[in-house]
Amino acid sequence: MANPLYDALLASAQNDDNIFLHLPDGSTVSYAQFNKDTAKAANLLKDIGLVAGDRLALQVEKSQSALSIYAACLMSGVVFLPLNTAYTAQEISYFLNDATPCLFVCDPASFKAYEPLAKAIGAECLTLSGKGEGTFQKRVQTMGDHFVAAERDSDDVAALLYTSGTTGRSKGAMLTHNNLLSNAQALCDLWRITKDDTLLHALPIFHAHGLFVALNTTLLARAKMIFLPGFSIDLVLDALPKASTMMGVPTFYTRLLDEPRFSADLVSNMRLFVSGSAPLLAETHEAFEQRTGHRILERYGMTETSMNTSNPYEGERRAGTVGFPLPGVHVRITDGAQGAEVAEGEIGMVEVKGPNVFKGYWNMPEKTREELRPNGYLITGDLGRIDEDGYLHIVGRNKDLVISGGYNVYPKEVELVIDKEDWVRESAVFGVPHPDFGEAVVAVTVVEANASSDKEGLKTRLSGQLANYKRPKAVFEVDELPRNSMGKVQKNVLRNTYADLFA
Ligand code: ATP
Ligand code: MG
Repeated sequence: MANPLYDALLASAQNDDNIFLHLPDGSTVSYAQFNKDTAKAANLLKDIGLVAGDRLALQVEKSQSALSIYAACLMSGVVFLPLNTAYTAQEISYFLNDATPCLFVCDPASFKAYEPLAKAIGAECLTLSGKGEGTFQKRVQTMGDHFVAAERDSDDVAALLYTSGTTGRSKGAMLTHNNLLSNAQALCDLWRITKDDTLLHALPIFHAHGLFVALNTTLLARAKMIFLPGFSIDLVLDALPKASTMMGVPTFYTRLLDEPRFSADLVSNMRLFVSGSAPLLAETHEAFEQRTGHRILERYGMTETSMNTSNPYEGERRAGTVGFPLPGVHVRITDGAQGAEVAEGEIGMVEVKGPNVFKGYWNMPEKTREELRPNGYLITGDLGRIDEDGYLHIVGRNKDLVISGGYNVYPKEVELVIDKEDWVRESAVFGVPHPDFGEAVVAVTVVEANASSDKEGLKTRLSGQLANYKRPKAVFEVDELPRNSMGKVQKNVLRNTYADLFA
């Protein structure tokens, strides 16, 4: 019997009494205990009638029990489908109808609203709170802790993970056992993750970052994890001295830098800070190094592929870049349409191929055909270039490209110039409809604390640095950029807000 991902992540740890989880209440969970809890949860799934290939959807707070449900899915071959805790009933209804799971696990507080939605698709609805309470957990406790893992092929789907919906409706990405295993192996090797590591985990577990990048690598390496319910500055400051690695979205790092208590002393035990899911400003990278002596390692990935590229562990971690392809992963830059490679150093569509690339979009064969080429390359939708040393630079998303007067404007290029202004904390550049130019470039800026805006000065300085068509036709100040729960700037929200500016 074989079950590649479960065998690698869990099976061999069944009798391992070493610590897996450090929980916020000070208690710990060993690998052996976690495996027992997993087997119990797998028995419950079986009891409910779930078989390999069925889907289990859940929208729950982070908890040890939620991790066991993920592990139980791997063990029993059930496809794991985690949903963003921010989704409302209307969104949940869409996902349930699209994915047709047999079981939906939700927070006890949402049961009343969600049970009819689950019922409508013939799914059972059970509950689980962040404290590990609810009907799921009640039933788990009555189950035996022995379960024979289901047989799975490398190519079987392990998880159905919906994309973040930054550019449109979320799509369900079918990820196979080998997609996840190959990526975890590559990352453990590259980032030198071993059983001596303790990962500070403050990310959500409904997204590839906190789930696959953070959790799968920890399990594979048999490392420890300080499992926090979320990014709370006090909890994070308290945990940092006990951790050796942290994975975060860029906002984690800006929030740490905003905190006067955050110092080099607190992180003297750390060996690695990783950033991803959204671009890390070079300025944040530099400020972090100044404060702590650590150079954040930035990497690039997406739901459909897990991780594609990473800055090196040893060697230069180049700010503003996402490094080199992972071993076994190929990255090329093309014209997007035909898939012809562009000249060296030119900007184009980032395409990736490798064992990490998903099987396709759930229920969307046409979309799969549009984005996954017959030769195995996935058209990522991100624009980028590879510099003379081989580092990949992401310059933005294809959908965010502004075409003004027939010229391409890459928002990142303009943002980088605006961000250099002392009074600008961060900026976002996007296009809105314009009667003469088709689209006009517009910028919003967040003003640095204790500074005042200098839009006139900016205008003068931009004219010295950027061609006219790239310069914003309007600049606005905002309190903060609209971001989703992974810290991604929502340019579609900005485009909608300012859509009538030149109408
Ligand atoms: P949707 O596909 O539904 O529009 P999404 O692309 O935001 O949403 P995810 O799969 O969560 O959903 O995000 C992947 C995207 O995140 C990448 O395609 C890329 O645009 C962005 N990204 C991830 N890491 C980085 C990084 N280090 N630098 C820049 N962008 C990044
Ligand atoms: Mg995407």
